[in-house]
Amino acid sequence: MLTANPTLDGALLPVYAQLPVRPVRGRGSWLEDENGERWLDAYGGHAVASTGHCHPVVVRAIAEQAAELLFYSTALAHPLRERLATELTARCPHPLSKVFFCNSGAEANENALHLARRLTGRSLCVSLQGGWHGRTVATLAVTDGEKYRAGARAAGIPLSRQIPVNDLHALERALDADVAALLVEPVQGMAGARDLSPDFLRGARALCDQRNVLLIYDEVQCGVGRTGHFTAAESFAVVPDVLTMAKGLASGFPMAAVVTTPRVAAHLSVGDLGSTFGGGPTACAAALATLAVITDERLLDNVRLVSEQLRRGALALGPTRVVGVQGRGLLLGLRLQRPAAEVQQALLKKRVLTGTASDAQVLRLMPPLSFSTAEAELLLAALAEVLQ
Ligand code: PMP
Repeated sequence: MLTANPTLDGALLPVYAQLPVRPVRGRGSWLEDENGERWLDAYGGHAVASTGHCHPVVVRAIAEQAAELLFYSTALAHPLRERLATELTARCPHPLSKVFFCNSGAEANENALHLARRLTGRSLCVSLQGGWHGRTVATLAVTDGEKYRAGARAAGIPLSRQIPVNDLHALERALDADVAALLVEPVQGMAGARDLSPDFLRGARALCDQRNVLLIYDEVQCGVGRTGHFTAAESFAVVPDVLTMAKGLASGFPMAAVVTTPRVAAHLSVGDLGSTFGGGPTACAAALATLAVITDERLLDNVRLVSEQLRRGALALGPTRVVGVQGRGLLLGLRLQRPAAEVQQALLKKRVLTGTASDAQVLRLMPPLSFSTAEAELLLAALAEVLQ
């Protein structure tokens, strides 16, 4: 959720509000604009720059693979695709051990919904208030917000049944014999890094098991290390039947994954899912390099360390400025006394990028997983000045 940019004209469709920054180079947590000015990036290209901008290991992997075999579709096997499948599922909790690669968060979620409908033979989805799942018609139908749902309604797609977050009684009523899936973000990104209660997720898991409904985690924003564990499923200690990832998975190279269990996979055969670009060799090289950097540079430890620093530092500004901090790891929402959009603008004057949310009082932080303690201090200092 960004601020309108009156300079956006010309041949591009006018569908994006943009911040007034024109980056031409990025390194780590920093962007450089056309005038050579440096910007501290606590927005991370919308939680995408997991290993920081232009990590040399990721850049080299992309360049080398592009020179070898830039692309071939899944019509032919490729060793990197197989290696990535093994490495990615090894980082997911048991029994999530099967993966399908595609290109974007919405595509991953749409495929997850296909799996649920196929397995259960039912069609309805239950989703949460504040949930945000993508822009294809099937994902608009499960996203909160009238302007999104209207798009699905216009296309004739049945809308999800929406329930309030953390409300197990409402969930119990909603999960009837027509429901194929419960779709949730363990940490709701667009809603302002709102983390669900572990009790709710545990209860949801039990109800889904009882009623043979698939539990799907949309970890497009909160996955790939962002919570301080590789998956949010591990962070919350509740494992879904299907888990989707995208954004940070290949550090900015388009790549998404649908991870599932052998039980779900047993219902699939050749031709049931597909994607021309999904799991292409260069995307796989970028994702493998991203996983290697997350492991080799102990970025999950860094996420936990810096998250605690940001949380404590923000709360230390006092309740007249920061009412509370929500979220996990490096997907944090600072609940402010002032409208977050105003604070975001004031931070931009200090050349610091942050995000807002559908909740107008919440400033969203989603910096690279490599955000350093020194960079966190700079961000907190800028925040302290702006909130004076
Ligand atoms: N799910 C979540 C939780 C998201 O945050 C987003 C993107 N903001 C999506 C799905 C859609 O991802 P994409 O834009 O890659 O389709």
